Amino acid sequence: MKINRLETVRVAAFPNLCFVRVYTDEGIVGLGETFFGAAEVESYLHGTAAPRLLGCDPLSVERLAQALRPYVGATSTGVEVRGNSAVDIALWDILGKVCGQPLYQLLGGATRDSVPVYNTCAGPEYIRTPGGQAVANWGLPESRHTRRYEDLEAFLHHADELARDLLASGIRAMKIWPFDPYAERWGGQYIRPEELQAALEPFRKIRAAVGDEMEIMVELHGLWNLPAARQILRALEEFRPVWIEDPLRPGYQPVTLRELTSVTSSVLALSETLAGRGAYLPLLEQGLVGVALVDVAWCGGVSEAKRIASLAEAYLTPVGFHDCTGPVALVASTHLSVSLHNVFVQEMVRAHYSGWYGELLSDLPPVEAGQIRPPPGPGLGTELRPDIVERAGTTTRVTSL
Ligand SMILES: [Mg+2]
Repeated sequence: MKINRLETVRVAAFPNLCFVRVYTDEGIVGLGETFFGAAEVESYLHGTAAPRLLGCDPLSVERLAQALRPYVGATSTGVEVRGNSAVDIALWDILGKVCGQPLYQLLGGATRDSVPVYNTCAGPEYIRTPGGQAVANWGLPESRHTRRYEDLEAFLHHADELARDLLASGIRAMKIWPFDPYAERWGGQYIRPEELQAALEPFRKIRAAVGDEMEIMVELHGLWNLPAARQILRALEEFRPVWIEDPLRPGYQPVTLRELTSVTSSVLALSETLAGRGAYLPLLEQGLVGVALVDVAWCGGVSEAKRIASLAEAYLTPVGFHDCTGPVALVASTHLSVSLHNVFVQEMVRAHYSGWYGELLSDLPPVEAGQIRPPPGPGLGTELRPDIVERAGTTTRVTSL
């Protein structure tokens, strides 16, 4: 079997997403995806990756990962690694289809049939445009209840109602990020006392409404310097969050993180912004990671995600897989989550899952009573909906043998 064609698919309505399809001369096609800088990833895939992949055996997943290892750009979530992540996901999809087995079986089988989800409280339009991770790109509605699952608007203003609604659907954990507007106001250098109090309001509402029945994850999006992060973490302690995610600006030194962990008993979740085992190792070695967060479409793909999880396991550290980017990443992550025993929860965004994710893929991982499981078909168990390539505004680009 040979790879004879690499195709990228970009859909106008979702300009951050780049889908990849790897075709073989036996008619089997693998699907992958990555997020952010979609046009740049597309350019890399056709210019650099395709010439190394075409004509090769797609089942040699590891050999191809080595063939795609860049000379520079290898140690971050840059364009090369994001593109390679998408290819790796597609190659595992091909392998599963050839074997007639779902991806989780190839990874050693499921350790559980399903895992609990937590809801990342984004709305349907969150980070829809190429504006990056910024308040201006939150996609907030004009008015309340404009669309279903306006969970970002809800956590800012009605966190108590939101917590009750999630619990009623069987979801027992939620992630919110009420500190971001103040980080933007001060460039992450400072937070005023009244701003800190305003950002704590959703936590007060949740605890007053449902007590500890709802678990809370706090997302800080890597926006803060050390003194401000220290203040925020101290203030959050009384709300007993499951974890506090990415408090410091990326590029921090382990010693800076050590300074931060010394003021809190909260668990720190770090970090889907990292790629490759080498980036996690120094933080794990120094005991600074409470939960190792991994984005399968940024870290190097399914292959590297499994290695990072094994590394974390050696330090008795749980792993969590990132969603809130695109549907293929959620599907691949769900396969990983059920197969790895050091995963206790899978991220999902119900606003995306119940809305546009289903408009792009044939099958999504079923979610029932707050539990997610992989779709049953071979490989990922899903495909791009066939009409996508015919939609107005879809850009496909092909490099073939
Ligand atoms: Mg995050």
